[in-house]
Amino acid sequence: MSRTAVVVGAGVGGLAVSSALVRAGWEVLVLERADEVRAVGSALALWANAVRAVEFVDPAAAAVLRGRPSLGGLAGLRTPSGAWLARMDVDALRAMQTVDAPIMVERPELHAFLGRQIPSSSFLLGRTCTAVSQVEDMASVRAGGDAYSADLVIGADGIGSVVRAAVDTSASITSARYVSWRGIVPASVGMEVSDGGETWGRGQRFGYIPLSDGGIYWYATLGTSRPRAAELGDQKRLLSELFSGWHEPVGALIAATPAERVLRNDVNMLWPQPRTYVHGRVALLGDAAHAMTPDLGQGAAMALEDAVELAIAVGDVASEDVPAALLAYDALRRPRAGGVAAQSRRMGQISQLSGLFSAGLRDVALRLIPSSRMAGGFGATANWQPSQPPRAIAPE
Ligand SMILES: Cc1cc2nc3c(=O)[nH]c(=O)nc-3n(C[C@H](O)[C@H](O)[C@H](O)COP(=O)(O)OP(=O)(O)OC[C@H]3O[C@@H](n4cnc5c(N)ncnc54)[C@H](O)[C@@H]3O)c2cc1C
Repeated sequence: MSRTAVVVGAGVGGLAVSSALVRAGWEVLVLERADEVRAVGSALALWANAVRAVEFVDPAAAAVLRGRPSLGGLAGLRTPSGAWLARMDVDALRAMQTVDAPIMVERPELHAFLGRQIPSSSFLLGRTCTAVSQVEDMASVRAGGDAYSADLVIGADGIGSVVRAAVDTSASITSARYVSWRGIVPASVGMEVSDGGETWGRGQRFGYIPLSDGGIYWYATLGTSRPRAAELGDQKRLLSELFSGWHEPVGALIAATPAERVLRNDVNMLWPQPRTYVHGRVALLGDAAHAMTPDLGQGAAMALEDAVELAIAVGDVASEDVPAALLAYDALRRPRAGGVAAQSRRMGQISQLSGLFSAGLRDVALRLIPSSRMAGGFGATANWQPSQPPRAIAPE
């Protein structure tokens, strides 16, 4: 049974779904506007659900990731002075199976893992999708003056998705009202941190996690109600000023990061969310469907989960049954990914509180939450399994 799919976008979600469909015997064409399959961003935290999704797509890649040391030692939340608001002994919690700590991976490596099962002839690079249309038994993508028709079109084209217009017009790209920076201190600097975690100030946050190669990944945020957020220019100097007086190693991490490894983003989300992820033979996944704030570190994880469930839904179906299979995918994924996006947005609102009273009250409340309960909250988000084992989509 020969079935074809056009996947728009070669990010985490597009690569994962393409790999899974190739394994299920589909003929896949991946259209990517960039001239190469390149990963934008620095590192990613992969929670247990994300690693399970990678395992579905490529068990060997998941084995490599699981072989890496993940976060251990002490982690939690601190105030800018360094006082703990909530503290977790990650190793102890892991032993109690309360938390499966995230595994850090650099984005180019994850892209390489997800893309390695896709034949190079399946990629059409430097092609920007401009429109999607459908007739009864085919969907069609326009790109660079050409049209590409298939049994299934997948919009994996990120928050600014063009494909989304063919599926839903209710979602909007909305500012989360804060900016973020990400940086990596390379292993060659020889800096060491004994723990990880996040520090919450008023309208500002800083977090860091050791990488398995000896480097250190960090991130920082600033509410855009603060006028300096608009400042461009020397980001390291701006960050040093913004976080001056915060406990170590915050200042040292900023100072040790090469300027070219500091990345700044305005944080946006899809809000309100789409009313559906599918229409006829067209489906959305990942940020195209539910771009969320990074506050739970679950955006790529949701793209990976979507990819797995979409491949399971359509894996064995004949072309005429693709629309019905997509409805099943929508029914499964929208409550899950939409719920995580809403949770992430709430977490962002709480963690970015900037008022003296509201942030103070938050900090008092945080001190009262038992660490196992806090860890359990993260564990619950990551508590996902594919609805079918990988072999169910392996080619006959
Ligand atoms: C600061 C920050 C930190 C984050 N940290 C984490 C984390 O720790 N863990 C986690 O799980 N998630 C994290 N995320 C979220 C994660 O980065 C995204 O959710 C994830 O990359 C989405 O993947 P995607 O494949 O859906 O979209 P994208 O990665 O945006 O990929 C879309 C692809 O489509 C291509 N494209 C776009 N438009 C077109 C077009 N018209 N035609 C052809 N191609 C097109 C783009 O070039 C791109 O290659 C973070 C996000 C941010 C902003």
